Amino acid sequence: MTTTLQPTGVLGTTAAQLRSAELEELITTDPGRFRILTGDRPTGQLHLGHYFGTLHNRVRLQDLGIETYVIIADYQVLTDRDVADHLSDYVEELTLDYLAIGIDPERSTIFTHSAVPALNQLLLPFLSLVSVPELERNPTVKDEIVHSRQSSVSGLMFTYPAHQAADILFCKANLVPVGQDQLPHVEITRTIARRFNHRYGDVFPRPDALLSEAPLLLGTDGTKMSKSRGNAITLAATADETARLIRGAKTDAERSITYDPATRPEVSSLVLLAALCQGRTPEQVASDLGSAGAAALKRTVTDSVNEFLSPIRARRAEYARDRGHLRRILRAGNEQANAVANATLAEVRTAMKCNY
Ligand code: ATP
Ligand code: MG
Repeated sequence: MTTTLQPTGVLGTTAAQLRSAELEELITTDPGRFRILTGDRPTGQLHLGHYFGTLHNRVRLQDLGIETYVIIADYQVLTDRDVADHLSDYVEELTLDYLAIGIDPERSTIFTHSAVPALNQLLLPFLSLVSVPELERNPTVKDEIVHSRQSSVSGLMFTYPAHQAADILFCKANLVPVGQDQLPHVEITRTIARRFNHRYGDVFPRPDALLSEAPLLLGTDGTKMSKSRGNAITLAATADETARLIRGAKTDAERSITYDPATRPEVSSLVLLAALCQGRTPEQVASDLGSAGAAALKRTVTDSVNEFLSPIRARRAEYARDRGHLRRILRAGNEQANAVANATLAEVRTAMKCNY
């Protein structure tokens, strides 16, 4: 049987925000219907973009009793660089960040991508379900190619969204708390799930992206805050490093502080950061500052960030004293992820009539 590939429609951010609001209602009334996959590449320490973009949502949902899988996407480090430097250090750093912000390994499964072969095997059938033009159109892949450290695009980078489909679907997750940059990937995952089910029978859910109130936090240079772009305020930074980074942040020449992300993205991003840390609205923070100028804004942001991160940093330092504990968490997580991946792959093989 031949099946043509139906086009994918990437959900715009506004539509995704509306859908996220609907999802929040469903989560409140019936958290048991959800299973979460979420995760990060071990390319450095986690930063405030992660925290407000997805981490605090992960903890909130975990605490509501939703089964949660947290993937440390180590193979995917190679999408935009030739060699994955300091990999095991960064894996430990991520695990520390997770523990410090409140991810509880008793309730959430933290695992490493490369340790779960059955998850990675899903990639073959999944790649058959997306077309090259669909992969080429993906705006996040395009953006990451621009920032890539490689002179040409590797097959791994190009097929990144299909890898993420395997990451999400191996545990049949139906909810993915992400930042805005991941929306096109979740959309391809939905397409792959739909096409797989159509061709081979119902195996996979069609997962939804869940955006937070800060789906795209900008870094100190005014572009997306990213581990790999040298523009991030990490959770683990010291108070002094934080002050230095924020002092160097890009602003504009206007003295009055306003919250207007469309016309003043850099200033607005700083206002938003202070507001998120203080648990207030950005408009309130901007109006308090009035015409105090960029230096006062930066002082407010620095104080708010340092105060907010202080307990997280203290917990992180405490966990960092026992590296053996981190290894044990990952071993247990990998064992659990393998059991789930093996069961899903067995179902996939049966659906595809590959049982011999
Ligand atoms: P890298 O630069 O190495 O790609 P990254 O900072 O983009 O690192 P990822 O590990 O690729 O981090 O992303 C992990 C998760 O954090 C994703 O769900 C992503 O959407 C979210 N995220 C990353 N950066 C931000 C940001 N600046 N604002 C909101 N969410 C973000
Ligand atoms: Mg990224």
